[in-house]
Amino acid sequence: MKNLAVLGATGSIGDSTLSVCRQNPALYKVQFLYAATNVDKMLALCLEFQPRYVALSNTDSALQLKALIKEHSLLCEVLPEEQVLALLGSPEIDSVMAAIVGAAGLKTTLAAVNAGKEIFLANKESLVMSGALFIDAVKKSGAKLWPVDSEHNAIFQSMSPTLQNDIGHCDLATEGVSKILLTGSGGPFLEKPLNEFDSITPQLAIKHPNWSMGPKISIDSATMMNKGLEYIEARWLFNAKKEQLQVIIHPQSIIHSMVQYKDGSVISQMGNPDMRVPIAHVMGGGHRINSGVAGFDFFDSENFRFIKPDYTRYPCLKLAIEACYEGQHATTVLNAANEIAVQAFLEQKIRFTDIPDVVDNTLNKVSCQAVSTIDELLMIDKMARESAEVLIHRGVNC
Ligand code: NAD
Ligand code: MG
Repeated sequence: MKNLAVLGATGSIGDSTLSVCRQNPALYKVQFLYAATNVDKMLALCLEFQPRYVALSNTDSALQLKALIKEHSLLCEVLPEEQVLALLGSPEIDSVMAAIVGAAGLKTTLAAVNAGKEIFLANKESLVMSGALFIDAVKKSGAKLWPVDSEHNAIFQSMSPTLQNDIGHCDLATEGVSKILLTGSGGPFLEKPLNEFDSITPQLAIKHPNWSMGPKISIDSATMMNKGLEYIEARWLFNAKKEQLQVIIHPQSIIHSMVQYKDGSVISQMGNPDMRVPIAHVMGGGHRINSGVAGFDFFDSENFRFIKPDYTRYPCLKLAIEACYEGQHATTVLNAANEIAVQAFLEQKIRFTDIPDVVDNTLNKVSCQAVSTIDELLMIDKMARESAEVLIHRGVNC
């Protein structure tokens, strides 16, 4: 039985992870739960899973949780935030589900990587920001990295063991891979007339046609920034060159991505769109375990469609692909500006169509040189956030 830490335990991926734990109680002991503010949900999880440690990054919430844990006489230690990194590096943790949303997940994910743990990587933003530094850290520590993002998990499942065992350093061409075909649904506005985009509300944008997810990734899916972040994620996980990566819109979200080989074969992983499937794959260590998800019924499906992405509809996707080849400073700025813009859109401070403008303007304003340390990345992240905030405050197109 492995000791599991769930980072982002109260979120959508946290829910799916703990659901897979319920299905497979002999595989993992839930040892540590970590989240931001949701005291009630965390208490309920502590009552059910009885973790040895728990933490909330918000100090007031952590104090409230501590009082409730005492009241319920639970044998669960509420850790102060500053002790979280040390716990993740300690022998008390074997496997880490990295599912904090956004750049906020970088430090914990990297702490687990540096300690050589088994990492289930959902927090794509940490890899988008730290790219080569992240992959080098995995190699150095011997951490075992498993892709949780459904597309990357599908790509991983469609590859040979040689490639699977060399994540971050794969030699795709030698193994006969000609292309990774990264699929995306196109989000809720695939068919919406472009002249109606100005009136898109957060309520409309958050409603994904196929997946149930947290608010930030739902908006990213509507702009297709999510696919852009995933493009960068795939570039690092599979050491892919530009000509080896292609985005295809597949509105049904049943094919979760594909790998095309030089003999003309295409291998894909399919299934109902439910994150418990890739989570069960990684938590089973590649062996098939119960996920709680029903099998896909091919007789119950619409025709599969495949569409080339249109950058006028999805300017964020283009910005992300460009940033991918500009360098790590650019992907850090892109990610930071996007996080600020999405939050501002959710708070109705900017329009849906302003999101790519905030990202583009921030990329133009924050000029940076090559980056070689995490501290430099964090500085660029901070500069980009401040610059995006100023833009939003002054009116995006200033
Ligand atoms: P969510 O908003 O539902 O949950 C986010 C979790 O992170 C919450 O538990 C929150 O409390 C926690 N959190 C936020 N800031 C924190 C901080 N500073 N310290 C500690 N905890 C913090 O998000 P989600 O949809 O579960 O996504 C989580 C990550 O997984 C994202 O990086 C996302 O891109 C990725 N992902 C999600 C899905 C999905 O279907 N939801 C699919 C693929 C990848
Ligand atoms: Mg995905």
